[in-house]
Amino acid sequence: MKLYKVLAVVLNSRQMRDAHRILTLFSKERGKIKVVAHGVAKPTSRKRGAVQPFSVTDFLLRRGRELDSISQCEGREFFPGLVADLDKMLYAGHVAELVDALTMDGDPHGDVFVHIVKTLRELDKTADPELVARWFEMQLMAMLGYLPGLSSCVNCGGQVNGPIARFSARAGGLVCSRCAGSAGGISCNRGTVAVMQTLLNWDINKINRLRVSQSCRFQMRAIMREYLQWHMEKLSRSLQFMDKLNSFKPGV
Ligand SMILES: [Zn+2]
Repeated sequence: MKLYKVLAVVLNSRQMRDAHRILTLFSKERGKIKVVAHGVAKPTSRKRGAVQPFSVTDFLLRRGRELDSISQCEGREFFPGLVADLDKMLYAGHVAELVDALTMDGDPHGDVFVHIVKTLRELDKTADPELVARWFEMQLMAMLGYLPGLSSCVNCGGQVNGPIARFSARAGGLVCSRCAGSAGGISCNRGTVAVMQTLLNWDINKINRLRVSQSCRFQMRAIMREYLQWHMEKLSRSLQFMDKLNSFKPGV
């Protein structure tokens, strides 16, 4: 069969020659797929809206020798709140980059698809996009088998005592004071560990009830950056851009 249907989120879109684009989709049925979208950059193209990054779209795809291409598409869900807010847009970009970097082409992950859509919906309306992004990071790590160890020491299995633990990206989670010497790591309060575990266990529609202190946010930001960077081999471009913007803001 030369044609097949998928429901997918557009993760990103790259310009090709003429008015063509290469899209990276994350589909419910087949995981990540790269496809050619012919002529969509033309102002008259009726497919334009449905192929924008972060759209959730029904695609009819045609198999090709190298890349499959879009035969038909119809946008199902859009998130106008992302376009109107730079922070939200950057966090959505970060979500897309994480999925692109950490999943393989054609490896189906229906759970990841559902979580991306939930995250985009929440980012669209939330007043706290950073916490929504942290929720997605924790959930994605769990779904892909990269979840950091947050109970006992990941190095020796011993108890992690005291109000402040250390988190080592290289070791894969919390380390006890004895192991921290060799594994290094970032300071991580008990409260921060508790919030990370809550993000893992709660559904996204409950997280706006969480009250998270600035120091906890700061620690989670540092921990997740180091941890994701360890797995992705680089920080997402969206977070790099956010860092650059924040360096111009007074008091951040
Ligand atoms: Zn240890």
